[in-house]
Amino acid sequence: MVLHGPAGAGTRPLAAEDVPTPHPGEREVLVQVEACGVCRTDLHVVEGDLPPLRPTVIPGHEIVGRVVQVGPEVRSLSVGQRVGVPWLRWTCGRCEYCVAGRENLCEHKQFTGYSENGGYAEFATGDEGYVFPLPDSAAARLAPWLCAGIIGYRALKLALPRPGGRIGFFGFGGSAHLTLQLAARLGYETVAYSRNPAHLELAARLGATASVLTGTKGGPARPPRLDGAVVFAPAGPSVLDALSELKKGGRLAVASIHMTPIPPIDYDRLLFGERTVVGVESNTREDAREFLDLADRLRLESAVHVRPLGEANEALAALKAGEVVGALVLDCRSG
Ligand SMILES: [Zn+2]
Ligand SMILES: [Zn+2]
Repeated sequence: MVLHGPAGAGTRPLAAEDVPTPHPGEREVLVQVEACGVCRTDLHVVEGDLPPLRPTVIPGHEIVGRVVQVGPEVRSLSVGQRVGVPWLRWTCGRCEYCVAGRENLCEHKQFTGYSENGGYAEFATGDEGYVFPLPDSAAARLAPWLCAGIIGYRALKLALPRPGGRIGFFGFGGSAHLTLQLAARLGYETVAYSRNPAHLELAARLGATASVLTGTKGGPARPPRLDGAVVFAPAGPSVLDALSELKKGGRLAVASIHMTPIPPIDYDRLLFGERTVVGVESNTREDAREFLDLADRLRLESAVHVRPLGEANEALAALKAGEVVGALVLDCRSG
């Protein structure tokens, strides 16, 4: 499913085309894609909120599949292995951020399904250093782990590194539904915030300590105050909603690659008291390894809606419309 330039999700921006099977580079593997998750970042790529980096691109960076070919320099992966290909595709290893162990901030990093073709396809490639072995579980369950899960995990660590405190999630989509489960199983108290009652029902089923319906007239009954918060919604005003729930000393992690403008922040009320706001950028490979291990050991569930690859346009439109409860996944074996 190929994008020939940014366009609105409602205009069927992706075209189903026959393209040559990609060749893995020296340190790359060729993956036969079983499933690819649909992430909000794909929507930002498709609609041009993120500027195009190449004339055409195949989106998709939550790839689950099997290695079917390896480049001549590949040592750590072999044909037949079950793997996942995430958003972070490559880093330089040389810039000041890479040298400092902060490769998520690399000045030259590349991305799956943005700077290189991704997983809305039957085949995709990945660099062996950035491709991760996966357990033998349903592909649709694993796909959201590759971005929604990993980024949510990084955001959780940035907002509230130690279990025991109370963490709130604002915007209850694919990422929040995994991160809340993880936090609950690690011993955090969890609070879900959403304007969609179906999201809060899912949150309750996944172990939320409490949930708050937002956007109602007169506001919700006073909810518990938070030690940390994560905003997943790409809507600037949700940053203020989250800050207004934070205790003194609390930290807010904003886990969105793009966001509408944040309204003016009332410093006296929302930042004074040593509250911190941090914008989460991508992830390190260490984050990915830690999360994938935890997700497997703690048996995280995925609430997924599976559609055939050919319905990628409909999937993106549904995501934009806020109709999705849980995560969307494309079955790339069905064409
Ligand atoms: Zn770098
Ligand atoms: Zn993503």
